[in-house]
Amino acid sequence: MISVEEARARILAFVERLPPERVPPLEALGQALAEDVIAGFDIPPLDNTAMDGYAVRAADTVDASEAAPRTLAVVADLAAGYVRETALGAGEAVRIMTGAPVPPGADAIVPFEETDEPLREPGQSPARGGTVAVFKAAAPAANIRRRGEDILAGQAALEAGRVVRASEIGVLSSLGRTEAVVYRRPEVAILSTGDEIVTPGGERRPGQIYDANAHGVAALVRAFGGRPRLLGIARDTVDDLTARIRAGLDADMIVTSAGVSRGDFDVVKDVLAREGAIDFWTVRMKPGKPLAFGAFEAPDGRRVPHLGLPGNPVSSMVAFELFGRPAIFKMLGREGWERPVVRAVTRDRIVNTDGRRFFARCIVTTGDDGRLYADLTGPQGSGILTSMSAANGLTIIPEDLPHADPGDEIDVMMIDWERPA
Ligand code: AMP
Ligand code: MG
Repeated sequence: MISVEEARARILAFVERLPPERVPPLEALGQALAEDVIAGFDIPPLDNTAMDGYAVRAADTVDASEAAPRTLAVVADLAAGYVRETALGAGEAVRIMTGAPVPPGADAIVPFEETDEPLREPGQSPARGGTVAVFKAAAPAANIRRRGEDILAGQAALEAGRVVRASEIGVLSSLGRTEAVVYRRPEVAILSTGDEIVTPGGERRPGQIYDANAHGVAALVRAFGGRPRLLGIARDTVDDLTARIRAGLDADMIVTSAGVSRGDFDVVKDVLAREGAIDFWTVRMKPGKPLAFGAFEAPDGRRVPHLGLPGNPVSSMVAFELFGRPAIFKMLGREGWERPVVRAVTRDRIVNTDGRRFFARCIVTTGDDGRLYADLTGPQGSGILTSMSAANGLTIIPEDLPHADPGDEIDVMMIDWERPA
């Protein structure tokens, strides 16, 4: 039996970052950039106004006040999207809307609120030919967004390695890009095994149960940035298992569930040994001890990593959280697969007598005193998936800690910051 760290290190040593691909920015959500994004032009492309107001020469507004306003001639009305080439003369102002380029000669924007604009009837603003009273002196450069203040042409607006999130998609879009170059998403082939397992929606005879794992694990694959592919359910025979695994050998990783413990029909390990090589198959953790890892040999000689998850639904999810997530992140070229770990006060007694690291399902909330508290979400049997559903964290009770008592501070790995309602 190996430690969680050693198991993870062996898996990470095996899997590799995938080659880059070009995809529309929106599809790249969660992928890492494979190259710098060099700006082709400045953003903003021109000096423009940050406010609706009047473009002025600051010198024309010196000493302006409500008691003694400075009156300027309004020579134009400028909307965003239009450029005015004519230079502003002394004593002149251009009525200007947010985002419109600042006309030449103007060096400050006086917001409407600092003029007599709000005192006018709707529709009575001086588009041209009228005057505006300025109530406050404008500082040079006031309310002007400078050309290139966000991004300069030729600069890396985003650097290789950056994970594409909403703001990166916004930056790519503002640079006019319709594609991003990112490391390819891994395709993860998922196979459930067991004579008792039936696909949801199918007929369920006595003694049979619906497949909780395939779709649960597929959801994790997708959440972590991979592309799940379902291979169905294999009977507990070497032949059926072999045939179905062969159908998934073109994937980047194969994930099976069940068939890895010591039972009579636990044939996953046998098939892995025959069709590839087993690296390890038990980890010092709870739930999820019977976890196999190895590689299948594809017809083209490629060695396809195989994560053999335990059958119990909670075990398979916890194991995929601990090992599938880092593997997918590495293939995606992403750093930081680690979940945040917080210190929280347990309100339960957590017993851990068998020398394994105990990842108990719990919910972390903030108490009235501002501290974080952890409550177990119910029975911790590895088949009890509803207590996983109610959880936002997993306790990390060390292998050598036989119990944590109410009031003790413990480490909790946050698998989610949302609190299930
Ligand atoms: P095994 O590893 O085959 O001994 O399975 C351990 C436990 O997990 C058994 O109670 C199985 O019935 C259950 N199990 C295995 N696969 C699934 C699955 N896909 N969905 C729900 N339960 C499962
Ligand atoms: Mg079984």
